[in-house]
Amino acid sequence: MNKPLIVKICETGRHIYNKGLTPGKSGNISVRSKDTVVITPSNVSLGHLKVEEMVIVDMDGKIVAGGIKPSSELQLHLDIYQKRDDVKGIVHTHSPFATGFAMSNEMIERLEGFGKTHKPFLKMVEYAPPGSAELANLAGNGLISEDVVILKNHGLVATGKNLLEATLLAEFVEETAKTQFISRVLGNTKD
Ligand SMILES: [Zn+2]
Repeated sequence: MNKPLIVKICETGRHIYNKGLTPGKSGNISVRSKDTVVITPSNVSLGHLKVEEMVIVDMDGKIVAGGIKPSSELQLHLDIYQKRDDVKGIVHTHSPFATGFAMSNEMIERLEGFGKTHKPFLKMVEYAPPGSAELANLAGNGLISEDVVILKNHGLVATGKNLLEATLLAEFVEETAKTQFISRVLGNTKD
């Protein structure tokens, strides 16, 4: 696994943390390169990632090199990679507006730019405890036909053909949820 790729993950972590997408120690990021996955460690701030802490695992989750304990959502990332050959980057956040919708069981509208299907809303998968095999399976299955899913009562998972695409999608979902929220508030106060 090349160091520039790991540096890129650290930079992406800082970027989305600074944008408010992964407050505190929430969220995790991974990149697949051939038969290995680099993933952010467990219980760290994505805004303060260190190159030497990043964890490299094989496709079965066995630690190959580096770091400390991998993210508690490792299985979720692996499940997605196993089901989607084309996915090379994954970003999981609890970004506030998208998560607000997820907590309220409100659907986020599918705007132009989400691609693929013509369904009116982003897919929301049922709740399962964070870090569980059940959640990994639900999210992995949900992402077979989507590039992003909302996790009920939890957050979102965005995927891409590379890390940048996954990151941009996570940002776009949050902005979409924010815009939808604002428009509903303004709409509700018109009368
Ligand atoms: Zn989470």
